[in-house]
Amino acid sequence: MDIKKRIEQLSTELLRHQHLYYVKAEPEISDLEYDRLFDELVELEKKYPQLAWPNSPTKRVGSDLDNTFPEKEHTLPVLSLDKQYTIEELEKWVSKTINNAGQALSFVVEEKIDGASIVLYYKNGSLESALTRGNGVVGNDVIENVRTIKQVPLVTGETSNFAVRSEIFIKKSDFGTYNQTFENKYANPRNLAAGSLRNIKSSVVAKVPLNIFSYEGFFETAFTNDHILILSRLKELGFRINRNMGFFSASKNMVATVQGKLPEIAAGHIGDLSDYVRERLGERNRLDYEIDGLVIKVNELDVRDGLGYTAHHPRWALAFKFDAPTAQTRLLDVQVQVGRNGRVTPVGILEPVKIAGSTVARATLHNQEYIDMLELGSGDTVSISKRGDIIPAVEKVIEKDPDHPSIFKFPETCPFCLSSLVKDGAHHFCKNRECPERIKRSISYFAAKDQMDIDTLGWKTIAFLFDKGYIKGIPDLYTFDYNELLNEEGFKEKKIANIKKSVENSKKKPFRKVLTSLGFDGLGTSAVSDLIKNGFYSMDRIIEAASRRDVEIFSNIEGFGEIMGQLVIRHFTDPENLALIEELRKIGLSFEERVEKPQEAEALTFKDQVWVITGSFEHFNPRSKAAEEIEKRGGKVVGSVSTRTTHVLVGASPGSKLDKAKKLDIPIIDETEFLKMLG
Ligand SMILES: [Zn+2]
Repeated sequence: MDIKKRIEQLSTELLRHQHLYYVKAEPEISDLEYDRLFDELVELEKKYPQLAWPNSPTKRVGSDLDNTFPEKEHTLPVLSLDKQYTIEELEKWVSKTINNAGQALSFVVEEKIDGASIVLYYKNGSLESALTRGNGVVGNDVIENVRTIKQVPLVTGETSNFAVRSEIFIKKSDFGTYNQTFENKYANPRNLAAGSLRNIKSSVVAKVPLNIFSYEGFFETAFTNDHILILSRLKELGFRINRNMGFFSASKNMVATVQGKLPEIAAGHIGDLSDYVRERLGERNRLDYEIDGLVIKVNELDVRDGLGYTAHHPRWALAFKFDAPTAQTRLLDVQVQVGRNGRVTPVGILEPVKIAGSTVARATLHNQEYIDMLELGSGDTVSISKRGDIIPAVEKVIEKDPDHPSIFKFPETCPFCLSSLVKDGAHHFCKNRECPERIKRSISYFAAKDQMDIDTLGWKTIAFLFDKGYIKGIPDLYTFDYNELLNEEGFKEKKIANIKKSVENSKKKPFRKVLTSLGFDGLGTSAVSDLIKNGFYSMDRIIEAASRRDVEIFSNIEGFGEIMGQLVIRHFTDPENLALIEELRKIGLSFEERVEKPQEAEALTFKDQVWVITGSFEHFNPRSKAAEEIEKRGGKVVGSVSTRTTHVLVGASPGSKLDKAKKLDIPIIDETEFLKMLG
């Protein structure tokens, strides 16, 4: 037989058997048989080195020659992801993303493997280079070492050039053994995986049982608009796809397609996404490899293009991290704060410590039950964590104070007014409405940025004015003569003028801000907005309705319910509250929100039309705005192009929908034309 032919035959066969053995775990031939073929190929390659394949299966054993790792440029963006630490934040992100996209979406949930990132580049079906992440633009080519990873396809049946993002890792159970062969120089499995990839002798790397999962593919010739179908294609080409993956979609068809193509992964309705995330969270410790979270990605590639990137992250993917950043420090003291509604909150005063880039000196301790659960006292060494932007929390006690072990107990009385604290549910309350601290807090809340936004009156100034007896309540902010402060240190004419100006400006705040600024329990921004939307657009309407003491008037508002209904009635029938409201009315605050007359209905010029939107737009950002315009005029907007589509609205960098529209000969409308159609 022709030598070249035989080498080709052996190489192809052996690569196939390597894949069967190492990826599918379904060997077709015995080890003996395999070794016989392998040895034959080694012999032939030795005799005819010019005929050996660069990606020969014999490369799996590596070489004793010293490797170099030349720097090469990535041809695809290797970005890091935005992070969140709670399922609530994750859910918010999902609905925000759907909103911004202006269409139903599917999401893919993957494990975030704690390994070494690698991008595999294939040319004419053959592995051409394997670049480390590097700085995201330039990485090191470690192809000789990557070839030794048996799960990496060296030659594939794909003719279009493509690249595959993957993570290389070592199993937890293999870490101990193999770390020994490196004289235990690696701190954890990830370091060992990353270190192995940069070992200068590939023959050494070949002995380390490295694993790989591939999770993102970029094909020069696009064939689908679905990320999940790219994964399915990668699997067909021999790549190892993590089976611990979920696909969630509003489209039953799409779910069925995925169940057919990738039966090993979880596929379900979009509403099941959070449950799946919780389930994976629970499974984490049972895995034989380390993960530090999950990655949630938009499936539709044209939507990804449309959503684009911030300066640092793609807007279409999010890392859900299991562990919030933590730090160790000492609890110096516990201070008791009393809020405007009387709730007592213990705050931990910490020895300042750096965490996730910022210095932290205080932490929330929630309530007495939380402190008891932690068995926490002053002087203890504690671990604190920071999730999202919330103030850090004390997670646990690392070591009790050896000199003065104690557990913090709430005082029996309010430290500010000395009235007895009352326990209600999990929290303690100061029920004294004359409590100076409560009044100061409610004035400060009234003036805060999110409410009346009197920015010259911060907490310190308000506390000073109150303690000195200049102001006694909210209305005094408007009636007090600030010129009296000229004698006080730190108050010059300029400062006083500024205070007067910002107090005066606050009178122009709309009714909804006034209502929120009262600080009534339960009446935050969104509840107030619901009230106004449901016909309670003036103070008088609310007071009048509350005076009827019919809970249903308010509880029927969507999102309110019985308890909120009762709260609203209680707030707006309370004599002290009503007196405050009257004083504010005299001052001239806005007590009514003019509800605009509903817009004249647009003529239904788009009636019976079915639109698909792709790409991004100058005037319609997010592009849901374009969808609104279409729907206002009686048209329908759908996610994908079909024979039923009547128009395709195309913006900058459109996705594959444009190609499909062209194929189906559907009218293509650009932004300029669309604006004309809207009139
Ligand atoms: Zn008090």
